[in-house]
Amino acid sequence: MLTQMMQQYLEIKNKHLDAIVFYRLGDFYEMFFEDAKVASRELELTLTGRNCGDGERAPMCGVPFHSADMYIGRLVSKGYKVVICEQMEDPAQAKGLVKRDIVRVITPGTVIDNTQLTEEKNNFLCSVYFSANEVGVGFIDISTGELSSTSFDGNGYGSHLFNELTAFGPNEIIMNIDKVENAELNRYITSKHIYCGNIDRDRFTFADARKNIVEKVGVKASDALAEMPICAVCAVGALLSYVSETQLSEKINVSELKYYREGQYLEIDASSRRNLELCETMRTGEKKGSLLGVIDKTRTASGARLLRSWVEHPLMNTRQIVRRQNAVSELFGDYMLRRELSEQLNSVLDMDRLMTKVIYGTANARDLCAIASSAAVMPQIKELIANCTSEELHNLYCELDTLEDICDLINRAITDNPPATIREGGYIRRGYNAQADELSTIVNDGESYIKQIAANERELTGIKNLKISYNRVFGYYIEVSKSNLSEVPERYIRRQTLANGERFITEELKEKESLILGASDKLNALEYQLFTELREKITAEAHRIQKSAGVAAKLDAYASLAEVASQNNYCCPEIDSSDILSITEGRHPVVEKFQSSDVFVPNDTYLDTNHNRLAIITGPNMAGKSTYMRQTALVTVLAQIGSFVPAKEARIGVVDKIFTRVGASDDLASGQSTFMLEMNEVANILKNATKRSLIIYDEIGRGTSTYDGMSIAKAVAEYTASKKLGAKTLFATHYHELTSIENEIPGIVNYNIAAKKKGDDIVFFRKIIKGAADESYGIEVAKLAGIPGEVIKRAKDILKELSANDGKKPYAEEASLGFNLTLDDFKAKELREKLLNIDVNLITPVEALTLLAELKKSAE
Ligand code: ADP
Repeated sequence: MLTQMMQQYLEIKNKHLDAIVFYRLGDFYEMFFEDAKVASRELELTLTGRNCGDGERAPMCGVPFHSADMYIGRLVSKGYKVVICEQMEDPAQAKGLVKRDIVRVITPGTVIDNTQLTEEKNNFLCSVYFSANEVGVGFIDISTGELSSTSFDGNGYGSHLFNELTAFGPNEIIMNIDKVENAELNRYITSKHIYCGNIDRDRFTFADARKNIVEKVGVKASDALAEMPICAVCAVGALLSYVSETQLSEKINVSELKYYREGQYLEIDASSRRNLELCETMRTGEKKGSLLGVIDKTRTASGARLLRSWVEHPLMNTRQIVRRQNAVSELFGDYMLRRELSEQLNSVLDMDRLMTKVIYGTANARDLCAIASSAAVMPQIKELIANCTSEELHNLYCELDTLEDICDLINRAITDNPPATIREGGYIRRGYNAQADELSTIVNDGESYIKQIAANERELTGIKNLKISYNRVFGYYIEVSKSNLSEVPERYIRRQTLANGERFITEELKEKESLILGASDKLNALEYQLFTELREKITAEAHRIQKSAGVAAKLDAYASLAEVASQNNYCCPEIDSSDILSITEGRHPVVEKFQSSDVFVPNDTYLDTNHNRLAIITGPNMAGKSTYMRQTALVTVLAQIGSFVPAKEARIGVVDKIFTRVGASDDLASGQSTFMLEMNEVANILKNATKRSLIIYDEIGRGTSTYDGMSIAKAVAEYTASKKLGAKTLFATHYHELTSIENEIPGIVNYNIAAKKKGDDIVFFRKIIKGAADESYGIEVAKLAGIPGEVIKRAKDILKELSANDGKKPYAEEASLGFNLTLDDFKAKELREKLLNIDVNLITPVEALTLLAELKKSAE
């Protein structure tokens, strides 16, 4: 027979089998059975036990209630769901077993507590609905109210869904099935600690889901609903019902529902996203060192999140891109405006998340002050952009609500530095409410209040030495000396006779006394009531505040892009729907920033879908091939988010998908070899790329025998360049044999990255030139890496033998660098061009000397 308490516990636990239940017992939250084992392991708590009836002991561990949030945060960040079961009555007063109930459900995708959120990142909850031939997806960040949805048809949904998940990076997923078939998705979910909620499947039924959306999002969902297929409605409806369930609230903070389809955004598959290090680096997973790390100079958390979402979802529509670009251009051209705007934006706090707390009723007085101080700069911001002429900035100007009334309301109600708790008063400003003022006077200066009453009584009775005192028996009383007793009015009620006088009370004095004695509690209750009323008032204006927060976030993102363009010397690319990708003197946005010793050497790229479809790039390891190819992809991404790009000039015909196949390391956890992974990725590219795509192959076919690998590489290059696919492609390879297809297939062009051997060493020039390299210089690079001299020497001998057997020319001491052009030819050509460009009649003597020095340096 279980103890009564254990019966109560199990009743609650049985309703939340997928969660860890924190069961309140006095000053602790206790966990039992399996929950206790998991929590003790994850939180490093001592596992003890508790009698659960019949002499059995249940494993148990616990955390003090005042530090529970920290433990909850740790569990949730590891992907667990936590349910808080609270005592619903005072244990001291309870008859029998204390009543307990669930008061909070915290899951990784539904936290709104700031301490558990990352400021610059959204926290997405995702819902996926699989039907027979379609998949609907919904994403919500309940801490900011962003809600969006998309859908795919059943064909190859796995890769689309995977791409979408990696773009949003949710922390929790709910699905209408128990497990996805796709192994890659399963791996992703487990590796990222993504919690998969098991959800009541009925929630996904279309009628309920639709009703849910209409009720909770209202008119802000109507445009999307008109477009959404059934599967997307089911996913979003279920998402909203799950949020209500975890927040224990029917009220949900949602700004609007956005529905988008395939083709609206540039699609970047999951491995390319990782390879290109768009928002985080591969090695550390940090933002620093990624593309976002370079271009994010935002001042606000909302701005940072917005810019990240732009990088995750570059645009496809030329008009939309140019619209953003014009906004960036306008700010780029006005240094003062940019600076002043940034200064004002510094004062804008995370209004989206603050408003979520207001709406869910968890905001405190400090949160309201933060909203007020953010709202306070809106008028200045509006004034700053008043004369902007670009369509986007002008629109933002029109949209920006300056919120003076909100700011004024909060400032009138709340003191400057309010305390963090709202139950204990001390934050309502004087003058906001008359009753609160009176109570506050009493609480803060009870003595003067009593002195004032005594003075009044002295005046009314004419008794000069009348006193008011206090003791525990009578409370406040009036004391009159013997000689003045004849002056005592009738309303005085005698309480005690002393040797030299008498003590009285009056009804009025008793009233005042109850005011004084309960004043503190009363004031606290009144302040709380005034505060919740104020919070309701602010909630009623939520749409206005959220709109202004949205405008500020956009301005912040534009100002950041403009600032980066200016600091890093970017140019505004020409965007069109042509098939041309032309970059003059392009640079890698990240490598150029982190390059410590050498200066970054800019390079040109020209690709189209005609005579320059596929560039085969050869050159030694470490020459800069990967850097060059990635920079082309990153310039394209930047251009399509509306940013300026690191180049002298660029023309970007909008690209629909970017694929990068870059040497993978063995993924042992997945049980796949490097070669298998590589082939999977290539298969994915060949299946999904279109003529409008940009493909980067960095070495393919290396994990198998030479002939095998080379054959695969050649066949892939041929197929990619052929009319069947014809996508714009950069193809780096060490198989020099591949360079011969330049002459076989139109549209394939050979390039190499210049390097030169000097004795046993190698000099990199980092310059891409036409033609193929004829050596890999592997041995020199190996030497550079510190392979012992003896091994290097032996390698050279082996190479000589192999070359001789192959009938190839032996190991060359001073290798040429291309079929068409040697490096010396190239340098000579550059020098000649410089000389020819000099107009001897126009040049001044000083300029001539400087130029001469420069030429001499190049020649050396
Ligand atoms: P590869 O792919 O040919 O082996 P990488 O692209 O990895 O070579 O480049 C090797 C290193 O050379 C990079 O880490 C970078 O520091 C440097 N590098 C690459 N391209 C340039 C460039 N254009 N200018 C200056 N340094 C460069």
